Amino acid sequence: MDGLMQDAPLTITSILDRGERLWGTREIVTKTLSGVERATYADLAVEVRRLAGVLDRLGISPDGRVASFAWNTFRHLALYFAAPCSGRVLHTGNIRYFPEQLVYTFEHAEDEAVFVDRSLLGLLGPLLPQLTTLKHVVVMDDGAPTPLPDDPRVVSYEELMSDAPETDLTGRVTDERQAAGICYTSGTTGHPKGVVYSHRSNWLHAIGSLTSGVFGMTDRDRVLPVVPLFHANGWGYAHSPLMGGASLIMPGPDLSPAGIVTLMEQEKVTVAAGVPTIWMGVAPLLKDHDLSSLRAVICGGSAVPSALSEAWRDAIGVPLTQAWGMTEMSPLGSVATLRKEIEEAGREAEVATLATAGLIAPGVSARIVDAVSREELPWDGETSGDLEVSGPWIARQYYKTDKPGDSFSPDGWLRTGDVAAITPLGYLKIVDRTKDLVKSGGEWISSVEVENQVMAHPAVAEAAVIAVPHPKWGERPLAFVVVRDGRSLTKEELTAFLQERLGKWQVPDDVVFIDEVPKTSVGKFSKKTLREQYADYRLP
Ligand code: ADP
Repeated sequence: MDGLMQDAPLTITSILDRGERLWGTREIVTKTLSGVERATYADLAVEVRRLAGVLDRLGISPDGRVASFAWNTFRHLALYFAAPCSGRVLHTGNIRYFPEQLVYTFEHAEDEAVFVDRSLLGLLGPLLPQLTTLKHVVVMDDGAPTPLPDDPRVVSYEELMSDAPETDLTGRVTDERQAAGICYTSGTTGHPKGVVYSHRSNWLHAIGSLTSGVFGMTDRDRVLPVVPLFHANGWGYAHSPLMGGASLIMPGPDLSPAGIVTLMEQEKVTVAAGVPTIWMGVAPLLKDHDLSSLRAVICGGSAVPSALSEAWRDAIGVPLTQAWGMTEMSPLGSVATLRKEIEEAGREAEVATLATAGLIAPGVSARIVDAVSREELPWDGETSGDLEVSGPWIARQYYKTDKPGDSFSPDGWLRTGDVAAITPLGYLKIVDRTKDLVKSGGEWISSVEVENQVMAHPAVAEAAVIAVPHPKWGERPLAFVVVRDGRSLTKEELTAFLQERLGKWQVPDDVVFIDEVPKTSVGKFSKKTLREQYADYRLP
């Protein structure tokens, strides 16, 4: 028997409509090179309708790909709506990709136009001759003095918009399964892989993100996505604040710790989100600022060291809220909010829970399976296995592949590449990425767990642990450590500290002191780079 409910398509256009009608007065604040620009969701809706008209006038195909190459700004947000609400697909270009990755992704997506911030032209300009599918390079002037490339495809955003009428977006998208956005994920080998979001997946992801056990954003919130809009679907921050009525504070090009903390203070931010390296940079500055408005600091993309989270709690009374997800998951998978049982169990249980990757989000199904037999494993918080997920905002296949392939199980679940345990209450404990585990003798050592303890040392600013070959054990852990300014630390001191906190077999065999841990294109510690740089390293 059929249910007798209306079949209204779940479109991004409906998110925009709601934002305009209900939350038209809420703000979008953008920090620019010269100050701060203020607009409202009502302004956004007008900008989107005009921008959609510009896409029509430029002759972008009805489902053509439109790239962005931009900081987090009002205009970037407008593109997040103008492209999909006019039927096109927004490809959020990663401004930190290597030139060859940029050329690959732009050609692979067959982008017809790119909207680029003028301050980023230095990165994209030299590649334009290789970007053969582009018909238009629309430069958004952000006040940077970067010269314009000598290319006939270059046009000015301001000129295009100056006489653009508002286009009616009603009825432009009728099929909720239509593609809305593409985000590439770098992976460890081979080319970046394209993840294609639909209107429906983004709509459901926004609703899921708004639930109280997840981010619970309301119209009282002022949300600062430090996470770039090009990283993993911008963690959904283009959509969920608009749906919930929260104002958005866009950091623009200044992602320095001082810039971020000042913006949080001045704009009375209540919720901020970024990867651990961002919050590591900000931590030492907290005590000099009034951050009493902050209620949640979302931290994900890599494991969050307990010491970092507790340093935030000590400084401003708010620990970090750990979240886990993947580009392939739009990206929400889990968030470490506290269930009643945890709160009732007291402070120790709370700290331990905040150190997990969090409670599985509504809409997401998770399971752990044995690496060999593929049998499902129990949720006892101890047994670990390969983590697989399924749900309506999780990819079923990569862009331009003819079948799902090895990244998906025969029954269609996404293989995350992470090893995890799940507690009886439904919290994920990510042990490691499969490829980062250290296989020492018969034991597997979690590089994440070792890093967590190394970073608990007060003289350590950053740390990363990788596996290196060992004649007897197969592999052993090697730690890379950045010492805090004004502090000193020897290998012997660190080893003695770790021997108190880790099993003997887990303590790294050697410590290499470096000035900075190399970062990936989205600001995570890049163990891949360390492995390459230290490929010839042999343990003493
Ligand atoms: P990339 O592979 O380029 O880093 P993603 O941002 O999509 O792209 O990475 C997703 C991966 O990031 C996850 O599979 C997991 O390994 C890691 N990750 C994300 N959040 C966490 C977390 N809270 N704890 C541990 N690992 C995390």
